[in-house]
Amino acid sequence: MTIAVNPELHPALVLNADYRPLSYYPLSLWSWQDAIKAVFLDRVNIVSEYEAAVSSPSFQMKLPSVVSLKQYIQPQRHPAFTRFNVFLRDRFECQYCTSPNDLTFDHLIPRSRGGLTTWENIVTACSPCNLRKGGKMAKDAGMMPNRKPWIPTVYDLHNAGRKFPPNFLHESWMDYLYWDAPLEP
Ligand SMILES: [Zn+2]
Repeated sequence: MTIAVNPELHPALVLNADYRPLSYYPLSLWSWQDAIKAVFLDRVNIVSEYEAAVSSPSFQMKLPSVVSLKQYIQPQRHPAFTRFNVFLRDRFECQYCTSPNDLTFDHLIPRSRGGLTTWENIVTACSPCNLRKGGKMAKDAGMMPNRKPWIPTVYDLHNAGRKFPPNFLHESWMDYLYWDAPLEP
């Protein structure tokens, strides 16, 4: 689940006004054109720069590598219940066998028994596990998910997203990506 980023395009990491990335997955990045436009519209501060610059006869400017919004954007407290966010909560792994392949959804309490399509009743599952469990209850099938499904906070999804960094991270981004991560013992 790696997002491809092309370093030659000099993307700018976009931070909220509190210096946290707007989003971790996908990482909040703007093209250098959008970053410079936002500088001129006075919407962002330049936090760090690339060596590379754009120039015209009358002016020269280094490309921003990190910008921060001048106005704080309130993050949503509860992430949307979407296929993508369920996969992200479950870290793109089958919750029965940990396979990352051929992923779909499983109703913990099957729909045929009144199970609802909600955060608390849906888990990421690979197709083989999903088939194997079929219309059975988890304990009748002998298949308990690794984690009981829950309603994630934005923070939960941010943390999950951190596990899937893009293929390129500029050195100037590192200070803003991991400083608020919980330390692993
Ligand atoms: Zn599986």
